Amino acid sequence: MKQSLAGLSLAELTELLKPLPVFRARQLFRHLCCGTRSFAEMTDFSLSLRESMERRFSLYSSEVAQRFVDRDGSVKLQIDLSDGARIEAVLLSDENGRKTACLSTQAGCPMGCVFCKTGSLGFNRNLTSAEMTEQFLHLQAAAGSRINNVVVMGMGEPLLNMTELRKTLLFLTGQDFGSRQFSKRKVTVSTCGIVAGIRELAENGPDVRIALSLTTADEDLRGRLMKASAANPLSALRNALLSYQQRRKRRITLEAVLLGGVNTRQKDVDALTVFVQGLDVAVNLIPWNPVVGALFEGAPLRQPSRAETDGFAERLRKQKVNVTVRLKRGRGIAGACGQLGRLSDTRV
Ligand code: SAH
Ligand code: SF4
Repeated sequence: MKQSLAGLSLAELTELLKPLPVFRARQLFRHLCCGTRSFAEMTDFSLSLRESMERRFSLYSSEVAQRFVDRDGSVKLQIDLSDGARIEAVLLSDENGRKTACLSTQAGCPMGCVFCKTGSLGFNRNLTSAEMTEQFLHLQAAAGSRINNVVVMGMGEPLLNMTELRKTLLFLTGQDFGSRQFSKRKVTVSTCGIVAGIRELAENGPDVRIALSLTTADEDLRGRLMKASAANPLSALRNALLSYQQRRKRRITLEAVLLGGVNTRQKDVDALTVFVQGLDVAVNLIPWNPVVGALFEGAPLRQPSRAETDGFAERLRKQKVNVTVRLKRGRGIAGACGQLGRLSDTRV
């Protein structure tokens, strides 16, 4: 199989192209970052060089298999990897036209949170950094204009794929990426709460933002909804967040997917109020997006009513918790949080 180039760092490209001079690697790198889709388009290389590169290399290791566009402007790409695994990447557009790329880090996910479609698929494998970066490049080609933010919130648990995740983050936020370089403030990694991974990011960076999928601060309920919780108890998580904040000085987002009648009790308000004390956090409430067949202890999960969501937010606000209810972007293409998974459930 030909070596694919997109997603490689400038240093890796330089090594591959030897004995060609470094400026050639830089030229090629620029093409890859701009989304050039074929060697033929690289007219700043001689024809013979283009042909020899074409013989040795391919541009991408992955391929966009399907593209879904939502009425709200969001785009979901289903992407086939070289071994046949299929993943998804989403471009979310907000009302101000700002674009956010949402990237996957694993094919499937081993964590099995009961409310999440990806969790129901089981775990296939970790993605390579090139496969993650390629998602970004495919989305950039689909976006047609600049992407403003990156969230690592697609399929899989990013902090269980730390080495490849770090390479991807360094690529996107590195100087090599040229005028497209992302500020580290514009990149957010979402985790179900892997204590060792949060500590690792706090100590060794890169200095990106983090979002913790808390779901609830009631330990018992959290344990029943998210199996990651058993090895990562709330007290240890809170300490990891504190050290991240001492070290990185960044506000942390806490995400809580709201499950109707399950984690919207007064007990959840009280526990969350205690959990956030001493932390600089913003809480995002995400009304659950339906996942066909999702059960919690034998009973089907349901979306919270509008009144239930607003009431929950209001009770938290009364406790001086900084809360936002998140808009459901991308729902029409099953590209919203926790809906990434399988084509059969997708309605376009
Ligand atoms: N594994 C990481 C990142 C991917 S999940 C994590 O868990 O943080 C991204 C977010 O989607 C998480 O906050 C998760 O709680 C949320 N989510 C999962 N399923 C959902 C659903 N069906 N509706 C709304 N949000 C969901
Ligand atoms: Fe995995 Fe995140 Fe889904 Fe949980 S919510 S199963 S950690 S992708």
